[in-house]
Amino acid sequence: MIDKNRKPSYLWTVLTNRCPRCREGKIYVTENAYDFKNNMKMHDKCPVCGQPTEIEVGFYYGTSYVSYAVTVAYSVATFIAWWVLLGFSLYNNSIFYWLIFNGVTLLALQPIFMRLSRSLWLSWFVKYDRDWEEKKAKDYERIVKEHMNNW
Ligand SMILES: [Zn+2]
Repeated sequence: MIDKNRKPSYLWTVLTNRCPRCREGKIYVTENAYDFKNNMKMHDKCPVCGQPTEIEVGFYYGTSYVSYAVTVAYSVATFIAWWVLLGFSLYNNSIFYWLIFNGVTLLALQPIFMRLSRSLWLSWFVKYDRDWEEKKAKDYERIVKEHMNNW
């Protein structure tokens, strides 16, 4: 059984793409970010607590901004890491090597970043509920069934 006093951390919840309400259920149908047919398919409701994953029409449009922020944060991080570990110089091509490295890894990590963006986005609108086992998940009226998972 789930220990009531154990509150999974926010960071772990977001990084493992879990439902922000119970912090247990997975929001995506597949675990594999590189399963390109299914990687963005989400459960309509959290399989553990029933929290809807889409709380209004076009809910995930806002994730493009999150995705942008994640991309910028990643690029800043690789830039600093490169600077510290390898260094930049005006007298060689180090800046271009970093640009290539950053571009290639960004592209490769895109599926993970896209999933992470949705996970973050949902976590800002749905709060952790300690009593999720007793209380029913809130119903959202502003959803149109036909438009779910339809991007
Ligand atoms: Zn849940």
